[in-house]
Amino acid sequence: MAEMEILGARISDLDMVETVCALAAYIDVGRQQNTADAMMHHIVTLNAEILYKAQTDERLMKIINNAALVTADGSGIVLAARELCGKEIERVTGIDLMQELCRQSAACGWSIYLLGAAPGVAEAAAKNLQEQYGTIICGWHDGYFSETEQAWVIGEINEKKPDILLVALGAPRQEFWIEDNQDRLRVPLVIGVGGCFDVISGNIKRAPLAFQRMGLEWLWRLIKEPWRYKRMLALPKFVLLVKREARRKHAQMAESVRRNVRRKNADDNKKR
Ligand code: UDP
Repeated sequence: MAEMEILGARISDLDMVETVCALAAYIDVGRQQNTADAMMHHIVTLNAEILYKAQTDERLMKIINNAALVTADGSGIVLAARELCGKEIERVTGIDLMQELCRQSAACGWSIYLLGAAPGVAEAAAKNLQEQYGTIICGWHDGYFSETEQAWVIGEINEKKPDILLVALGAPRQEFWIEDNQDRLRVPLVIGVGGCFDVISGNIKRAPLAFQRMGLEWLWRLIKEPWRYKRMLALPKFVLLVKREARRKHAQMAESVRRNVRRKNADDNKKR
């Protein structure tokens, strides 16, 4: 798997087509396994806010690094890949990935279960996906269930035998939920997709293409949902962290070059 390390997290540098091919392989492998934990492949769609949080949250970082695949959901991750790894990568956002899988669902025979968002939202998203792409939706449930209802929800998911479970409880709640229940879920592919059902159901409008292309989707969300500003303060902090790490890496590289030159000069002097 092609991946790079950014601020302690392993992140895939696959583009959308390659990612969907990798996920197709996970579904095939998962379908052949017998035990729940061997069967499940957890996919994280990672943005700067969550990676910043993971710097001080060991459990979250562990979940990210144990995932089968981590995609670059936000432009902050794309920037970090450029600054720290010298790589130009494509953003593979949760919503684009979800739509791509839903588009491929009928042709590939993948059934999908939607879990999350307020009552009625997953159902509306399911209807839209069925109408738009002919997606095979085998069930849905809202994301507001109690501890006691949870066993029933997981039982229902397993009974419906989805190939893909999309969990929209918001990040990082959904990542913790997936990890907590990985031994109970009998699903080959489980993906945390944040607030995607709100967008696909039509409740919330996604940023216009111009914003998406300029990597300014975060600005659109800030304009539309200003109460997010507190969470979004993580973004400038993340950029500062990336810049600091880039300077540290460059200094380390320069020091290593200087050391090699000194060693070579010393060897040359000895030979003379
Ligand atoms: N949500 C949920 N259960 C909860 C808390 C949140 O299903 O207990 C849903 C919420 O209704 C919303 C989504 O999780 O649809 C969170 O969306 P947000 O845009 O905040 O997530 P992000 O994309 O930032 O991770």
